[in-house]
Amino acid sequence: MNDCLFCKIVRGEIPCQKVYEDDRVLAFLDINPINPGHTLIVPKEHFQDMSSASGEALRDLVSVSPKIAKAIVEAFGYKGYIFSTNNGGVAGQEIMHLHFHIIPRGKDDGHKNFARGGYTEGQMQTVAEKIINNI
Ligand code: AMP
Repeated sequence: MNDCLFCKIVRGEIPCQKVYEDDRVLAFLDINPINPGHTLIVPKEHFQDMSSASGEALRDLVSVSPKIAKAIVEAFGYKGYIFSTNNGGVAGQEIMHLHFHIIPRGKDDGHKNFARGGYTEGQMQTVAEKIINNI
């Protein structure tokens, strides 16, 4: 038995407000929501993050996510949602068990999106090449 918080939730050792469950996936309300209905979707099997997850686990998560998101949006009349996953502490990952966030958004809900930058001349191609050579 590992000490992971979300594994404990999956095993029923710590309570959660469940909104969806099947053999391989559990979805429950985030305890500190960005907006009410903010939901976390986790694989029952432990993976630290998206890069270490199996393709099967990722497919399971992605295949159930849209119907959960639609249910959240329609239940409360939201206008859209953010579908995201933080990978690594520097990216904001606090719980080291892969999870997808579904964050419902309203038009004037007061939350700001990321500030954006730009590229200098030629920099975009260099950046893309660096990524391509590393895939
Ligand atoms: P992240 O920062 O991407 O790792 O997200 C972790 C999320 O888990 C945060 O949004 C927390 O509010 C949420 N969280 C932490 N503990 C619990 C818990 N016991 N039940 C539900 N959500 C939790």
